[in-house]
Amino acid sequence: MDLKQYVTIVEDWPKEGVRFKDITTLMDNGEAYSYATDQIVEYAKEKHIDLVVGPEARGFIIGCPVAYALKVGFAPVRKEGKLPRETVKVDYGLEYGKDVLTIHKDAIKPGQRVLITDDLLATGGTIEATIKLVEELGGVVAGCAFLIELSYLDGREKLNGYDMLRLMEF
Ligand code: 5GP
Repeated sequence: MDLKQYVTIVEDWPKEGVRFKDITTLMDNGEAYSYATDQIVEYAKEKHIDLVVGPEARGFIIGCPVAYALKVGFAPVRKEGKLPRETVKVDYGLEYGKDVLTIHKDAIKPGQRVLITDDLLATGGTIEATIKLVEELGGVVAGCAFLIELSYLDGREKLNGYDMLRLMEF
């Protein structure tokens, strides 16, 4: 299936000059969403994963159906102040300034093999921060899966040494 036909390019959003890849038009098509999910499930099976971890909010949309299909758990990574219990946190760079990502301290058992999911790899800042959180808790990053890689942004360099799957490249 050619998944690219389901991605809508939105010009000048959220600001001028950006060509935003809107995946909601993929998600709201049942065949495309389940096809994309199945590809990631197959990858996760090869990697023998024990847990899926995804950053808010689109990492949930990709990761939760994969976790359900594999009957493994899903642990959310969220912005600071959103998770109710004790967390570990990491600062990560944004285009302007910094942000903080957090995960519950007991979300991962040491040695668990983790699949990290997100909709899109751009500069790699989000995945790099999520990898740090997983490893701080003793998890093993067995793979990273994205719907889309923006290959002109070199986010892949941040994944040096980590295995990754992406279903589309722009
Ligand atoms: P990075 O941290 O790799 O620079 O940016 C990736 C994060 O920003 C992902 O969590 C992704 O959801 C979001 N993102 C950045 N650009 C786009 C885009 O064009 N489309 C979508 N759907 N998400 C984007």
